Amino acid sequence: MTRRIFRSILCVSAAVLLASLVITLGVLYGYINVQQKNELRDETMYLAPGVVERGAEYLLQLEDTGKRITLIDRDGTVLYDNEADSQEMENHLQREEVQEALASGEGMASRHSDSLSEPTMYYARLLDNGQILRLSGSEYRMMTVFANLLYPMCAVSLLMILLAAFFAMRASEKIVEPINRLDVEDVKEGDVYEEIAPLVQKIGHQKETITNQVLEAQRQQREFEDMKEQMRREFTANVSHELKTPLTSISGFAEIIKNGFVKPEDIPGFAGKIFEESQRLIVLVNDIIKISQLDEGGIPYDKEEIDIYEMAEEVLDRLEEPAKKRNINLQLLGEHVKIRGVRLILDEVIYNLCDNAVKYNRDNGSVIVRVRRDRRGIQLVVADTGIGISKEHQERVFERFYRVDKSHSKAIGGTGLGLSIVKHGAAFLGAAVNLDSRPDEGTVITLTWKAA
Ligand code: ADP
Repeated sequence: MTRRIFRSILCVSAAVLLASLVITLGVLYGYINVQQKNELRDETMYLAPGVVERGAEYLLQLEDTGKRITLIDRDGTVLYDNEADSQEMENHLQREEVQEALASGEGMASRHSDSLSEPTMYYARLLDNGQILRLSGSEYRMMTVFANLLYPMCAVSLLMILLAAFFAMRASEKIVEPINRLDVEDVKEGDVYEEIAPLVQKIGHQKETITNQVLEAQRQQREFEDMKEQMRREFTANVSHELKTPLTSISGFAEIIKNGFVKPEDIPGFAGKIFEESQRLIVLVNDIIKISQLDEGGIPYDKEEIDIYEMAEEVLDRLEEPAKKRNINLQLLGEHVKIRGVRLILDEVIYNLCDNAVKYNRDNGSVIVRVRRDRRGIQLVVADTGIGISKEHQERVFERFYRVDKSHSKAIGGTGLGLSIVKHGAAFLGAAVNLDSRPDEGTVITLTWKAA
């Protein structure tokens, strides 16, 4: 920045210097010009009476004045010239200064002299006897003055440029120094000059905004951590509670058998109950493992192209038996559509949706799974004709261990984790979940992969 300011100041100074040099030379030229004219006029006036009285003879006895003197007759004939042979000179009647003098008494002209071959200034005066006295001087004189002036002027200009460079350097350092000195961590308006005060103000505001944003982000992070901690505690409490119930039953049945309170013929019944509770425990523990894996990202991350339609077909095959028991019709519609994802997770998501659609269906009901793709994206829709979910529960069914009817869910082998696995799994696969349900009519859950 210092360099740029330095260069700018120096350029401006040099331009100003050049301009003033040109103007000075112009003024000087004008001044010398006027001086020369005046000199010619004064000398002509001085010589005029002598010429009127004694004619060319008077001019002949004059000493060299450094000027060319010409006496011209009224008809233009050159009567006398101190620097050329008047006999050989052509008629001067048409000369500009002569014409002017004849018309107005005096005439002035500047041109290249044919006789002397140099730029010349002429002054002609009409004398009382009708003749014209003309004095002329070389304009080389003016050039000589300029040439003599040139050397000192160049020297002065150089000196001025050096001075300008020195002051430009000082000025640019002075401009930049407070900016470099600026402590952006602790900006004070008093530290800088007036012109950069707005910049300092802006930095101050910016800093304030950033500090506030950082504080806000830290607050949100803390809130998020607290919420996560709270959820973890709730989850642990819920898991313990969920595990405790079947374990208590298993332990109770086993204790009764161990103490010999059960008749031998009742033992298979008790063993059956222990088996059932253990099965429930296995399902529960498996679900807990899945949800924990989704949470921690512990699932092997092997992405591949998966045909959703084929996968839904496999899932419905697995559910055929429980569906048959309650005469629930399973239907798969749509087309073969592929997505890129993790097979295990997509299987869990589709299975939990279809499993719920069967579990919470009524006897003789139906489940329709549809896979489709349109310009908006890919959709997997699982619709059932089951018990439905009322409005107030719809938001909460995706929470862990949340069940609309706890005893009913437990009775049909629910863990309260299915939809939570769906929510996390869908998020992992990049799909949005939408629930549409009406009590006693049925539920439609849609997964949507938006088109890019
Ligand atoms: P669960 O293991 O109890 O089925 P989920 O997380 O899968 O747990 O579901 C949470 C609750 O949402 C269920 O207990 C049930 O009350 C309700 N629910 C889920 N799917 C359906 C459905 N298709 N129809 C009606 N209710 C459903």
